[in-house]
Amino acid sequence: MSVRVVARIRPLLEKEFDRDTIVRPASNDDGRSSTVVKIPNPRNESEEFSFTFNGVYDQPTTQEELFTAEVAPHLKSLFLGLDVTIFAYGVTGTGKTHTMRGGLKLADRGVIPRLLSGVFRRAKKITKDSDSETTVTVALSYYEIYNDKVFDLLEPVEKRTPSGLSLRAEANGKTVVAGLSERPCHDLKDFEQLYIEANTNRVTAATKLNAHSSRSHAILRVKVTQTTGDMIRESTASAIDLAGSEDNRRTDNGKERLVESAAINKSLFVLSQCIDAIARGERRIPFRESKMTRILSLGQNNGITIMILNLAPLRSYHLDTLSSLNVSSRAKRIEVREIENEIVYKQQPRSAANSGSNIARQPLRP
Ligand code: ADP
Ligand code: MG
Repeated sequence: MSVRVVARIRPLLEKEFDRDTIVRPASNDDGRSSTVVKIPNPRNESEEFSFTFNGVYDQPTTQEELFTAEVAPHLKSLFLGLDVTIFAYGVTGTGKTHTMRGGLKLADRGVIPRLLSGVFRRAKKITKDSDSETTVTVALSYYEIYNDKVFDLLEPVEKRTPSGLSLRAEANGKTVVAGLSERPCHDLKDFEQLYIEANTNRVTAATKLNAHSSRSHAILRVKVTQTTGDMIRESTASAIDLAGSEDNRRTDNGKERLVESAAINKSLFVLSQCIDAIARGERRIPFRESKMTRILSLGQNNGITIMILNLAPLRSYHLDTLSSLNVSSRAKRIEVREIENEIVYKQQPRSAANSGSNIARQPLRP
């Protein structure tokens, strides 16, 4: 199991009133690659906190550049039987959905459609090249976790039971969602149709619950099955658009929001602990502590995990940005050298030096 944590800073939006940029990338000590994010200390503006990542993508980074650098290299592993998990983590409004789903224009397409496109391309090639008659099938599941309940997004909203779907432990130790639908997907057109329909379900359901889709985790699961004779190789790629990591308690004190906040905070906390434990090469991964990490069996299989921390560079996000940097940087206690040519970060000893983070780790309240 390997893990990689990268930060992506989004550009300013035209409609944005706040133009005060406080988050910036910086080079690490060797001066070559940008792997550090700097942000002022809200209590003392003359001081800056530094957070080190496996990679930092600044404002002008295109969708294609991000995909090519962080996701495309793992397609091969997926077809070799490894599970690939990609998370977008961050405050609402920082670009998680943009990163994962993206826009409709070709250049704006996010990680998910590009991933599917890559999967179909590779599948076609394998089918064509193999003398041994290998067939590849692709199937999709798409669900959300809201208030720690699991809902199928490929089913119409009317079919939802309020308690959601239950989890079941399988003989092989994996956890599955009981009754989750799975749709075969033959090409990119198939995928787009399913995906657009499902995203409409997500928004409709959220509206009915008087909630917002930024308060649920949306998980797309792409199952790749390769069959050669009686040999079957199965692997999955999961792409997750996480609930907003902001402190909802600060902005909205309604009872429903508090329940949501508690569920979101708990699952995001467990997620960061899992990623942290994986990054440090620990044996015990606390994946059982939340539904999301349980379903993904995070750290239990031989897979690759990529966490993309989305950041808005603006002052209006200051405290929430700092707290999300703290959470995700706990997951990246890894040394910075060697990163340049490595695709996947192998287990590394803990790095002692991480300037400022000890101070910044304490929760900051306005
Ligand atoms: P989140 O899902 O984290 O709440 P969104 O993905 O909805 O955030 O992004 C918020 C806004 O910023 C959207 O209007 C989105 O189109 C825009 N945006 C985010 N990232 C980028 C980017 N890299 N380039 C251009 N626009 C972006
Ligand atoms: Mg979103």
